[in-house]
Amino acid sequence: MVTRLDTREETTMRMHDHRRLGRELGLFDTDPLIGAGLPYWLPDGAAVRHALEEYIRGAERRAGYRHVYSPVLGKRELYEISGHWSHYSDDMFPPMDLGGEQVVLRPSLCPHHALIYRSRGRSYRDLPLRMAELGGMYRSELSGVLGGLTRVRAIQLNDAHIFCTLDQVEEEAAAALAMIVRAYRALGIRPARYRLSLPGPGGKYVAGAELWRRSTDLLVGALSACGLDYEAVEGEAAFYGPKIDVQIADGAGRESTLSTVQVDFHQPERFDLHYVGPDGARHRPVMVHRSIIGSVERAVAHLIEVHGGAFPAWLAPTQLTVLPVSQAEVPRADGLLRRCAELGLRAEVAGPEHGSLGARVRAARLVPYHLVIGAREAAREEVAPRLRDGRRLDALPAAEMLARVRALVEAHSTDLWDDAAAPDDQGVRP
Ligand SMILES: [Zn+2]
Repeated sequence: MVTRLDTREETTMRMHDHRRLGRELGLFDTDPLIGAGLPYWLPDGAAVRHALEEYIRGAERRAGYRHVYSPVLGKRELYEISGHWSHYSDDMFPPMDLGGEQVVLRPSLCPHHALIYRSRGRSYRDLPLRMAELGGMYRSELSGVLGGLTRVRAIQLNDAHIFCTLDQVEEEAAAALAMIVRAYRALGIRPARYRLSLPGPGGKYVAGAELWRRSTDLLVGALSACGLDYEAVEGEAAFYGPKIDVQIADGAGRESTLSTVQVDFHQPERFDLHYVGPDGARHRPVMVHRSIIGSVERAVAHLIEVHGGAFPAWLAPTQLTVLPVSQAEVPRADGLLRRCAELGLRAEVAGPEHGSLGARVRAARLVPYHLVIGAREAAREEVAPRLRDGRRLDALPAAEMLARVRALVEAHSTDLWDDAAAPDDQGVRP
Protein backbone atom coordinates (compact mmCIF):
# COMPACT_ATOMS: atom_id res chain seq x y z
CA MET A 1 0.00 0.00 0.00
CA VAL A 2 1.36 3.41 -0.93
CA THR A 3 0.84 5.96 1.82
CA ARG A 4 1.67 9.62 1.53
CA LEU A 5 2.51 11.84 4.44
CA ASP A 6 -0.19 14.37 5.17
CA THR A 7 0.62 18.06 5.48
CA ARG A 8 0.50 18.00 9.28
CA GLU A 9 3.12 15.27 9.43
CA GLU A 10 5.35 17.13 6.99
CA THR A 11 5.11 20.29 9.09
CA THR A 12 5.98 18.38 12.27
CA MET A 13 9.01 16.87 10.56
CA ARG A 14 10.21 20.22 9.23
CA MET A 15 10.12 21.57 12.78
CA HIS A 16 12.19 18.64 13.97
CA ASP A 17 15.44 18.82 12.02
CA HIS A 18 17.31 15.81 13.40
CA ARG A 19 20.63 17.69 13.46
CA ARG A 20 19.25 20.40 15.77
CA LEU A 21 17.24 17.98 17.93
CA GLY A 22 20.12 15.50 18.08
CA ARG A 23 22.30 18.17 19.65
CA GLU A 24 19.57 19.62 21.92
CA LEU A 25 18.57 16.20 23.26
CA GLY A 26 22.17 15.04 23.64
CA LEU A 27 21.82 12.10 21.22
CA PHE A 28 24.88 12.57 18.98
CA ASP A 29 27.45 15.15 17.96
CA THR A 30 30.57 15.64 15.89
CA ASP A 31 34.05 16.97 16.55
CA PRO A 32 36.30 18.52 13.91
CA LEU A 33 39.18 16.44 15.24
CA ILE A 34 37.29 13.22 14.48
CA GLY A 35 36.14 14.64 11.18
CA ALA A 36 33.13 15.52 9.07
CA GLY A 37 30.63 12.73 8.48
CA LEU A 38 31.90 10.80 11.50
CA PRO A 39 29.37 11.49 14.30
CA TYR A 40 29.72 9.95 17.74
CA TRP A 41 26.79 8.78 19.87
CA LEU A 42 26.18 10.23 23.34
CA PRO A 43 24.68 7.96 26.06
CA ASP A 44 21.03 8.86 25.27
CA GLY A 45 21.56 8.38 21.53
CA ALA A 46 23.42 5.14 22.20
CA ALA A 47 20.42 3.91 24.27
CA VAL A 48 18.07 4.53 21.30
CA ARG A 49 20.50 2.85 18.90
CA HIS A 50 20.99 -0.13 21.21
CA ALA A 51 17.22 -0.67 21.55
CA LEU A 52 16.84 -0.46 17.77
CA GLU A 53 19.70 -2.89 17.11
CA GLU A 54 18.36 -5.38 19.66
CA TYR A 55 14.88 -5.18 18.11
CA ILE A 56 16.37 -6.00 14.70
CA ARG A 57 18.52 -8.86 16.02
CA GLY A 58 15.49 -10.33 17.84
CA ALA A 59 13.27 -10.07 14.75
CA GLU A 60 16.00 -11.72 12.68
CA ARG A 61 16.54 -14.55 15.18
CA ARG A 62 12.80 -15.27 15.18
CA ALA A 63 12.79 -15.31 11.36
CA GLY A 64 15.54 -17.94 11.23
CA TYR A 65 18.59 -15.75 10.57
CA ARG A 66 21.99 -16.56 12.11
CA HIS A 67 24.29 -13.66 12.97
CA VAL A 68 27.94 -13.35 12.01
CA TYR A 69 30.70 -10.77 12.50
CA SER A 70 33.13 -9.88 9.74
CA PRO A 71 35.93 -7.29 9.54
CA VAL A 72 35.45 -3.82 8.08
CA LEU A 73 38.62 -4.23 6.00
CA GLY A 74 39.33 -6.49 3.05
CA LYS A 75 41.92 -6.84 0.33
CA ARG A 76 41.39 -4.78 -2.80
CA GLU A 77 41.26 -8.07 -4.72
CA LEU A 78 38.07 -9.06 -2.84
CA TYR A 79 36.23 -6.03 -4.25
CA GLU A 80 37.70 -6.60 -7.70
CA ILE A 81 36.09 -10.05 -7.65
CA SER A 82 32.76 -8.75 -6.31
CA GLY A 83 32.62 -6.01 -8.95
CA HIS A 84 32.55 -3.15 -6.42
CA TRP A 85 35.97 -1.96 -7.54
CA SER A 86 34.93 -1.41 -11.15
CA HIS A 87 31.38 -0.18 -10.44
CA TYR A 88 31.73 1.66 -7.16
CA SER A 89 35.35 2.75 -6.54
CA ASP A 90 34.44 6.47 -6.73
CA ASP A 91 32.54 6.01 -3.46
CA MET A 92 35.28 3.99 -1.76
CA PHE A 93 38.11 5.25 0.44
CA PRO A 94 41.53 4.99 -1.23
CA PRO A 95 43.34 1.68 -0.57
CA MET A 96 45.93 1.46 2.21
CA ASP A 97 49.30 -0.09 1.45
CA LEU A 98 50.08 -2.78 3.99
CA GLY A 99 53.21 -4.91 3.59
CA GLY A 100 53.00 -5.05 -0.19
CA GLU A 101 49.23 -5.62 -0.19
CA GLN A 102 46.39 -3.15 -0.59
CA VAL A 103 43.50 -3.23 1.86
CA VAL A 104 40.36 -1.11 1.68
CA LEU A 105 37.58 -0.08 4.05
CA ARG A 106 34.64 -2.09 2.80
CA PRO A 107 31.87 -0.42 0.79
CA SER A 108 29.46 -3.28 1.54
CA LEU A 109 29.18 -6.48 3.57
CA CYS A 110 28.18 -8.77 0.69
CA PRO A 111 31.65 -10.01 -0.34
CA HIS A 112 32.54 -11.03 3.23
CA HIS A 113 29.27 -12.94 3.57
CA ALA A 114 29.83 -14.68 0.22
CA LEU A 115 33.21 -15.88 1.54
CA ILE A 116 31.65 -17.06 4.83
CA TYR A 117 29.12 -19.05 2.77
CA ARG A 118 31.97 -20.51 0.67
CA SER A 119 34.04 -21.46 3.73
CA ARG A 120 32.01 -24.68 4.32
CA GLY A 121 30.53 -27.34 2.10
CA ARG A 122 26.82 -26.54 1.64
CA SER A 123 23.98 -28.91 0.85
CA TYR A 124 20.45 -28.17 -0.40
CA ARG A 125 19.36 -29.12 3.15
CA ASP A 126 21.20 -25.99 4.46
CA LEU A 127 19.12 -23.69 2.23
CA PRO A 128 17.70 -21.13 2.62
CA LEU A 129 20.76 -20.06 4.63
CA ARG A 130 20.04 -16.68 6.21
CA MET A 131 23.16 -14.77 7.33
CA ALA A 132 22.77 -11.43 9.14
CA GLU A 133 25.16 -8.81 10.50
CA LEU A 134 24.87 -5.30 11.89
CA GLY A 135 28.23 -4.25 10.54
CA GLY A 136 30.33 -1.25 9.66
CA MET A 137 30.93 -0.05 6.09
CA TYR A 138 32.42 3.13 4.66
CA ARG A 139 31.64 5.63 1.94
CA SER A 140 33.97 8.45 0.87
CA GLU A 141 31.23 11.12 0.66
CA LEU A 142 32.52 14.60 -0.23
CA SER A 143 32.68 16.88 2.81
CA GLY A 144 30.25 19.39 1.20
CA VAL A 145 27.29 16.98 1.37
CA LEU A 146 27.86 15.69 4.90
CA GLY A 147 25.47 16.50 7.70
CA GLY A 148 23.94 14.98 10.81
CA LEU A 149 23.24 11.28 10.56
CA THR A 150 21.85 11.16 7.01
CA ARG A 151 25.10 11.61 5.05
CA VAL A 152 27.96 9.94 6.90
CA ARG A 153 31.26 8.33 5.98
CA ALA A 154 31.07 5.52 8.56
CA ILE A 155 27.84 3.52 8.31
CA GLN A 156 26.44 0.80 10.55
CA LEU A 157 24.36 -1.35 8.20
CA ASN A 158 21.56 -3.74 9.15
CA ASP A 159 22.40 -6.26 6.45
CA ALA A 160 21.58 -9.85 5.62
CA HIS A 161 22.10 -12.26 2.77
CA ILE A 162 19.89 -15.23 2.08
CA PHE A 163 21.56 -17.95 0.05
CA CYS A 164 18.81 -20.04 -1.52
CA THR A 165 17.55 -21.88 -4.57
CA LEU A 166 15.73 -20.07 -7.33
CA ASP A 167 12.45 -21.66 -6.15
CA GLN A 168 12.92 -20.17 -2.68
CA VAL A 169 13.62 -16.57 -3.75
CA GLU A 170 10.05 -15.31 -3.93
CA GLU A 171 9.06 -16.65 -0.51
CA GLU A 172 12.26 -15.31 1.11
CA ALA A 173 11.80 -11.87 -0.47
CA ALA A 174 8.15 -11.81 0.67
CA ALA A 175 9.18 -12.79 4.23
CA ALA A 176 11.73 -9.94 4.23
CA LEU A 177 9.02 -7.49 3.08
CA ALA A 178 6.75 -8.71 5.88
CA MET A 179 9.55 -8.05 8.41
CA ILE A 180 9.86 -4.51 7.01
CA VAL A 181 6.12 -3.89 7.39
CA ARG A 182 6.20 -5.14 11.02
CA ALA A 183 9.29 -3.07 11.85
CA TYR A 184 7.74 0.14 10.49
CA ARG A 185 4.67 -0.48 12.67
CA ALA A 186 6.84 -0.90 15.79
CA LEU A 187 8.91 2.17 14.92
CA GLY A 188 5.84 4.30 14.25
CA ILE A 189 7.04 5.26 10.75
CA ARG A 190 5.43 4.96 7.32
CA PRO A 191 6.94 4.30 3.91
CA ALA A 192 6.46 7.05 1.30
CA ARG A 193 6.29 4.31 -1.36
CA TYR A 194 7.60 0.93 -2.41
CA ARG A 195 9.84 1.35 -5.44
CA LEU A 196 10.80 -1.39 -7.87
CA SER A 197 14.22 -0.20 -8.98
CA LEU A 198 15.14 -1.30 -12.49
CA PRO A 199 18.21 -0.64 -14.68
CA GLY A 200 18.20 2.46 -16.85
CA PRO A 201 19.85 3.29 -20.15
CA GLY A 202 23.61 3.88 -20.01
CA GLY A 203 24.12 2.64 -16.43
CA LYS A 204 27.02 0.43 -15.33
CA TYR A 205 25.20 -2.87 -14.91
CA VAL A 206 26.43 -6.41 -15.17
CA ALA A 207 25.27 -8.24 -18.27
CA GLY A 208 22.55 -10.89 -18.70
CA ALA A 209 19.19 -9.56 -19.83
CA GLU A 210 17.44 -12.87 -19.15
CA LEU A 211 18.63 -12.96 -15.51
CA TRP A 212 17.51 -9.36 -14.97
CA ARG A 213 14.04 -10.23 -16.30
CA ARG A 214 13.81 -13.29 -14.10
CA SER A 215 14.96 -11.41 -10.96
CA THR A 216 12.43 -8.65 -11.65
CA ASP A 217 9.60 -11.20 -11.97
CA LEU A 218 10.54 -12.75 -8.60
CA LEU A 219 10.49 -9.35 -6.86
CA VAL A 220 7.14 -8.46 -8.42
CA GLY A 221 5.85 -11.84 -7.18
CA ALA A 222 7.03 -11.05 -3.63
CA LEU A 223 5.37 -7.60 -3.72
CA SER A 224 2.04 -9.03 -4.82
CA ALA A 225 2.27 -11.88 -2.26
CA CYS A 226 2.42 -9.13 0.40
CA GLY A 227 -0.35 -7.10 -1.25
CA LEU A 228 1.92 -4.05 -1.62
CA ASP A 229 1.46 -1.44 -4.35
CA TYR A 230 4.67 -0.21 -5.93
CA GLU A 231 6.05 2.10 -8.57
CA ALA A 232 8.62 0.86 -11.10
CA VAL A 233 11.48 3.33 -11.64
CA GLU A 234 14.25 2.92 -14.20
CA GLY A 235 17.87 3.77 -13.43
CA GLU A 236 17.81 2.93 -9.69
CA ALA A 237 18.90 -0.74 -9.75
CA ALA A 238 22.08 -2.02 -8.05
CA PHE A 239 24.87 -2.81 -10.52
CA TYR A 240 24.26 -6.53 -10.01
CA GLY A 241 20.46 -6.68 -10.10
CA PRO A 242 17.02 -5.12 -9.61
CA LYS A 243 15.73 -4.30 -6.12
CA ILE A 244 12.72 -3.30 -4.08
CA ASP A 245 13.47 -0.05 -2.24
CA VAL A 246 11.27 1.14 0.60
CA GLN A 247 11.33 4.92 0.35
CA ILE A 248 10.87 7.32 3.24
CA ALA A 249 10.35 11.09 2.94
CA ASP A 250 11.71 13.89 5.14
CA GLY A 251 9.82 17.06 6.11
CA ALA A 252 10.73 18.74 2.81
CA GLY A 253 9.37 15.74 0.89
CA ARG A 254 12.85 14.55 -0.12
CA GLU A 255 12.89 10.78 -0.54
CA SER A 256 15.59 8.38 0.50
CA THR A 257 15.81 4.60 0.71
CA LEU A 258 15.58 3.02 4.15
CA SER A 259 14.92 -0.67 3.46
CA THR A 260 15.75 -2.85 0.50
CA VAL A 261 15.32 -6.36 -0.92
CA GLN A 262 17.50 -7.38 -3.87
CA VAL A 263 17.94 -10.49 -5.99
CA ASP A 264 21.48 -11.25 -7.15
CA PHE A 265 22.63 -13.95 -9.57
CA HIS A 266 25.91 -12.14 -10.20
CA GLN A 267 27.91 -12.43 -6.96
CA PRO A 268 27.27 -16.19 -6.52
CA GLU A 269 28.81 -16.49 -10.01
CA ARG A 270 31.78 -14.23 -9.24
CA PHE A 271 32.57 -16.07 -6.00
CA ASP A 272 31.81 -19.48 -7.50
CA LEU A 273 29.33 -20.35 -4.75
CA HIS A 274 27.60 -23.71 -4.86
CA TYR A 275 25.64 -26.28 -2.94
CA VAL A 276 25.20 -29.99 -3.44
CA GLY A 277 21.67 -30.74 -4.66
CA PRO A 278 19.50 -33.84 -4.01
CA ASP A 279 20.95 -35.19 -7.29
CA GLY A 280 24.46 -35.11 -5.79
CA ALA A 281 25.56 -32.49 -8.33
CA ARG A 282 26.85 -28.94 -7.69
CA HIS A 283 24.35 -26.10 -8.14
CA ARG A 284 24.60 -22.32 -7.96
CA PRO A 285 22.61 -20.60 -5.15
CA VAL A 286 20.92 -17.22 -5.59
CA MET A 287 21.78 -14.41 -3.16
CA VAL A 288 18.96 -12.25 -1.76
CA HIS A 289 20.33 -9.07 -0.16
CA ARG A 290 17.96 -7.46 2.32
CA SER A 291 17.98 -4.70 4.90
CA ILE A 292 15.08 -3.99 7.26
CA ILE A 293 16.10 -0.56 8.57
CA GLY A 294 19.04 0.20 6.27
CA SER A 295 21.75 2.13 8.06
CA VAL A 296 21.27 2.67 11.78
CA GLU A 297 22.30 6.33 11.27
CA ARG A 298 19.62 7.10 8.67
CA ALA A 299 16.98 5.14 10.62
CA VAL A 300 17.62 7.09 13.83
CA ALA A 301 17.68 10.42 11.94
CA HIS A 302 14.25 9.60 10.52
CA LEU A 303 12.91 8.47 13.91
CA ILE A 304 14.06 11.73 15.51
CA GLU A 305 12.28 13.80 12.84
CA VAL A 306 9.06 11.75 12.77
CA HIS A 307 8.66 11.65 16.55
CA GLY A 308 10.28 14.99 17.37
CA GLY A 309 12.28 13.19 20.08
CA ALA A 310 9.14 11.66 21.68
CA PHE A 311 10.12 8.10 20.74
CA PRO A 312 7.89 5.06 21.30
CA ALA A 313 8.51 3.90 24.89
CA TRP A 314 10.64 0.91 23.86
CA LEU A 315 13.07 3.27 22.06
CA ALA A 316 13.03 6.21 24.47
CA PRO A 317 16.43 6.99 26.07
CA THR A 318 14.61 7.56 29.39
CA GLN A 319 11.39 5.57 29.71
CA LEU A 320 10.27 6.65 33.19
CA THR A 321 10.87 9.74 35.29
CA VAL A 322 10.21 9.20 39.00
CA LEU A 323 9.01 12.39 40.71
CA PRO A 324 9.10 12.47 44.52
CA VAL A 325 6.86 15.37 45.59
CA SER A 326 9.07 16.29 48.58
CA GLN A 327 12.39 15.27 50.09
CA ALA A 328 10.57 12.73 52.31
CA GLU A 329 9.68 10.54 49.28
CA VAL A 330 13.19 10.57 47.78
CA PRO A 331 14.23 7.21 49.38
CA ARG A 332 11.10 5.55 47.88
CA ALA A 333 11.94 7.10 44.49
CA ASP A 334 15.51 5.80 44.67
CA GLY A 335 14.18 2.32 45.50
CA LEU A 336 11.88 2.46 42.48
CA LEU A 337 14.82 3.52 40.29
CA ARG A 338 16.78 0.43 41.37
CA ARG A 339 13.77 -1.77 40.63
CA CYS A 340 13.51 -0.25 37.11
CA ALA A 341 17.17 -1.01 36.45
CA GLU A 342 16.63 -4.63 37.57
CA LEU A 343 13.71 -4.91 35.15
CA GLY A 344 15.77 -3.50 32.28
CA LEU A 345 13.80 -0.22 32.20
CA ARG A 346 15.60 3.10 31.69
CA ALA A 347 14.55 5.49 34.45
CA GLU A 348 15.69 8.63 36.26
CA VAL A 349 14.68 10.43 39.45
CA ALA A 350 13.89 14.15 39.19
CA GLY A 351 13.86 15.27 42.84
CA PRO A 352 12.51 18.46 44.43
CA GLU A 353 15.94 20.14 44.06
CA HIS A 354 15.04 20.46 40.32
CA GLY A 355 12.12 22.80 41.04
CA SER A 356 8.35 22.57 41.33
CA LEU A 357 6.53 19.41 40.30
CA GLY A 358 5.11 21.25 37.26
CA ALA A 359 8.55 22.41 36.16
CA ARG A 360 9.95 18.87 36.54
CA VAL A 361 7.08 17.38 34.51
CA ARG A 362 7.70 19.96 31.75
CA ALA A 363 11.44 19.21 31.72
CA ALA A 364 10.61 15.50 31.24
CA ARG A 365 7.99 16.16 28.51
CA LEU A 366 9.57 13.67 26.08
CA VAL A 367 9.70 10.88 28.69
CA PRO A 368 6.75 8.47 28.17
CA TYR A 369 5.94 7.84 31.86
CA HIS A 370 6.02 10.19 34.86
CA LEU A 371 5.58 8.44 38.20
CA VAL A 372 4.59 10.90 40.93
CA ILE A 373 5.15 9.79 44.54
CA GLY A 374 3.57 11.95 47.25
CA ALA A 375 3.15 11.11 50.96
CA ARG A 376 -0.04 9.11 50.28
CA GLU A 377 1.54 7.02 47.46
CA ALA A 378 4.73 6.46 49.48
CA ALA A 379 2.75 5.08 52.42
CA ARG A 380 0.86 2.62 50.16
CA GLU A 381 3.80 1.67 47.88
CA GLU A 382 1.89 3.20 45.00
CA VAL A 383 2.62 5.69 42.24
CA ALA A 384 0.39 8.28 40.55
CA PRO A 385 1.27 7.91 36.85
CA ARG A 386 1.01 10.59 34.17
CA LEU A 387 1.60 9.79 30.53
CA ARG A 388 3.57 11.98 28.14
CA ASP A 389 0.40 12.74 26.16
CA GLY A 390 -1.20 14.40 29.23
CA ARG A 391 -3.30 11.48 30.48
CA ARG A 392 -3.36 11.01 34.27
CA LEU A 393 -4.00 7.50 35.58
CA ASP A 394 -5.39 6.49 38.98
CA ALA A 395 -2.72 5.65 41.53
CA LEU A 396 -1.74 2.00 41.38
CA PRO A 397 0.81 -0.29 43.07
CA ALA A 398 4.34 0.59 41.91
CA ALA A 399 5.10 -3.06 41.03
CA GLU A 400 2.01 -3.26 38.81
CA MET A 401 2.92 -0.03 37.02
CA LEU A 402 6.44 -1.26 36.23
CA ALA A 403 5.13 -4.65 35.05
CA ARG A 404 2.64 -2.99 32.69
CA VAL A 405 5.26 -0.61 31.27
CA ARG A 406 7.65 -3.52 30.81
CA ALA A 407 4.99 -5.54 28.95
CA LEU A 408 4.37 -2.63 26.53
CA VAL A 409 8.12 -2.16 26.02
CA GLU A 410 8.73 -5.86 25.37
CA ALA A 411 5.84 -5.92 22.88
CA HIS A 412 7.49 -2.95 21.03
CA SER A 413 4.14 -1.17 21.25
CA THR A 414 3.70 2.37 20.02
CA ASP A 415 0.77 2.78 22.47
CA LEU A 416 1.68 4.41 25.77
CA TRP A 417 -0.95 2.55 27.74
CA ASP A 418 -3.05 -0.60 27.45
CA ASP A 419 -6.29 0.01 29.33
CA ALA A 420 -7.32 -3.60 28.84
CA ALA A 421 -4.27 -5.06 30.64
CA ALA A 422 -5.51 -6.52 33.94
CA PRO A 423 -3.30 -6.43 37.05
CA ASP A 424 -2.87 -10.22 36.99
CA ASP A 425 -2.08 -10.24 33.29
CA GLN A 426 1.42 -8.81 33.50
CA GLY A 427 3.24 -11.15 31.16
CA VAL A 428 4.50 -10.33 27.69
CA ARG A 429 1.52 -9.89 25.40
CA PRO A 430 1.64 -11.19 21.85
ZN1 LIG B 1 24.54 -7.36 0.06
